Amino acid sequence: MIYIIIFLLVGIVLAGLHRILLVSANIRAPILRRYLRWVYRGDFDLCRNELQHMGFYLLLLPHEQEEFLYRVFYLTKNKLFVGREGLKITPQMKVLVCAALAQLTFGYSQYSLPRLVAIYLYPGPFFSKRLQVQVKGLSIDSHTLMLSWPDFCKGYASATDGINLGLHELSHSLWTYMQYLNSDFTDIALLKLRLHRQTIRQNTPESDPLFRDYAFTDDQEFWACCVEIFFESPLRFEVEHPELYNLMRKLLLQDMAERWRRIRKN
Ligand SMILES: [Zn+2]
Repeated sequence: MIYIIIFLLVGIVLAGLHRILLVSANIRAPILRRYLRWVYRGDFDLCRNELQHMGFYLLLLPHEQEEFLYRVFYLTKNKLFVGREGLKITPQMKVLVCAALAQLTFGYSQYSLPRLVAIYLYPGPFFSKRLQVQVKGLSIDSHTLMLSWPDFCKGYASATDGINLGLHELSHSLWTYMQYLNSDFTDIALLKLRLHRQTIRQNTPESDPLFRDYAFTDDQEFWACCVEIFFESPLRFEVEHPELYNLMRKLLLQDMAERWRRIRKN
C-alpha cells in the first residue's frame, strides 16, 4: 500500500513539474528544452514544417530559428484558440497565428503578450457589434484577438506589399501591453510617431506611396501600418524614412533591414 501511495505522489509531483515547464515562457536550460522537444516531438515537427514556408523564419540565423521554433511551440500550448461561425481550428492555424505573434515580439524576452488570452478565428470578414461594421480583424484591449482566417493567410501570401492583417492586429495588442508596462515610454513614442505621421502625410508621393491611406486614420493605425511595413518592406522603409525606421527598430527591438542585408550578402 505504501508503495502505491509513494508511486502516486511521485506521479503527481512529476506531472506538476511537467505542467510548470509547459507554462514557463522562458526556459533556458538546454536539458529542459530537450525534454520538451522529446515529449512533444510531433508538435515540434509540425511547427518546424509550417515555419519552412515563412519568410521571417527563413531570414533568421540557425540559433535564432531554434529560439523562434521554441517560442511558437510555447505559444501554441498557451493561447486559447476558438473557431467562430463554423470554422474548425486546425493545428496549422495555431502554428501560423502564433508564428505571427512570435515574429512581432521576437526582439523581446517577454514575448508572449500574457494578457492576450483568446484568439478567435472566423471563416471570413465578420460583423463587429462594437464598431457596427464588417471587419477583417479586431484587437480588443490586449486580451482578445479576432481574425478572418483567409485574410490572415493573404497577409503572408504576399510578403512584401506592406499589408499583413495578423501583424497589424497583433501590433494593437502589443501597444496596449507596452502601455500597461510603461505608459511614459509609450506616450513619448506616440508623440514621435504622430510627428512622423504628419510629415509623411504632407509629403506622400501620389504614385507608389509606401504608406496606404489607412495609416493616416489615427495614431494607433499609423503604428500598426508602420509595423506591417517594417516587416514587409524594411529596406525601402529605411531608405525613405530613416528616422522613423530607427524608431520602429527601437520599439520592436529588432532590425529587419539588417536581416535582409545579411541574406543578400550570403
Ligand atoms: Zn488597426
